[in-house]
Amino acid sequence: QSPRVLSIQSHTVHGYVGNKSAVFPMQTLGIEVDFVNSVQFSNHTGYPTWTGKALDGDDLSELIRGLRSNGLLKHTHLLTGYMRSASLIRCVMETLDELRKENGQVIYVCDPVMGDNGQLYVPQEIVSVYRDEVVPKATILTPNQFEAEVLTGVKISDISSAVKAIDILHERGVQCVVITSMHLEGSDSIFLLASLSSSSQPPQRLKITIPKLEATFTGTGDMLAALILSWFQLTDDLKTVIENATATLQAVLANTVKLQSKELQLIYSRKEISDPQVPDWLRAESLSS
Ligand code: ADP
Ligand code: MG
Ligand code: MG
Repeated sequence: QSPRVLSIQSHTVHGYVGNKSAVFPMQTLGIEVDFVNSVQFSNHTGYPTWTGKALDGDDLSELIRGLRSNGLLKHTHLLTGYMRSASLIRCVMETLDELRKENGQVIYVCDPVMGDNGQLYVPQEIVSVYRDEVVPKATILTPNQFEAEVLTGVKISDISSAVKAIDILHERGVQCVVITSMHLEGSDSIFLLASLSSSSQPPQRLKITIPKLEATFTGTGDMLAALILSWFQLTDDLKTVIENATATLQAVLANTVKLQSKELQLIYSRKEISDPQVPDWLRAESLSS
């Protein structure tokens, strides 16, 4: 069965976050994407103002009903990002259950977007919804350091505490955990950690060290989750998946900096998305367990 992703994320009229940052890379890598825009905003929140509206659980149910009645709920993957209402999250989880009733192999890639740098940007009640109702259904989870802490209660201050948090998430049923960025005291680098559990062996764990750029970007996490989903379709090898995803993202960021843009330069970087080149300095290293 060829992959068809149901992607439920934000949409911005101008610029690249949520679906705008996830859909083009997936399509470029050959994946069909059906996408629901969970909010429609004029632009991302890195600008002084924005306008627009959010979808609630009932709005989503109505769209799902239309897909269902035409036999179109046949997705192989669900991808979710920023969702700020518990009713929307619950409706998405019902949709996932329905997809899995038909096809037990449906892969759920969950980016548990809740906050960053010690600060929540969703209502507090969302945390327990993710922890108790969403994480146990996720196949691939892509929290940043703060989100991994909030989901597990483990304070992450070094690699071994990060691994402890990762193992808690594996125990709750997540097959692949990617901590998309962690910052360690005294280091100018960003670390990405990936861990893939297996029934017969200890988890495979990898680390990529990413030089930290001065600028702040919006939409990077959304794009990374989409790239991880896409590369897992093209290979089973975790190392290839995270190296290609990271190399693509770093190429996009380099172009974004070069063009001094407020927006990720996705279209300009289409060649780097379809054919990523992994520089030696972005190679993943094994973590000894
Ligand atoms: P979010 O917190 O939005 O979920 P992250 O901060 O984890 O997303 O960023 C996702 C990825 O984007 C990181 O793994 C890294 O590759 C890249 N990235 C984001 N910001 C920077 C930066 N300032 N310098 C270098 N890479 C960055
Ligand atoms: Mg971040
Ligand atoms: Mg993220």
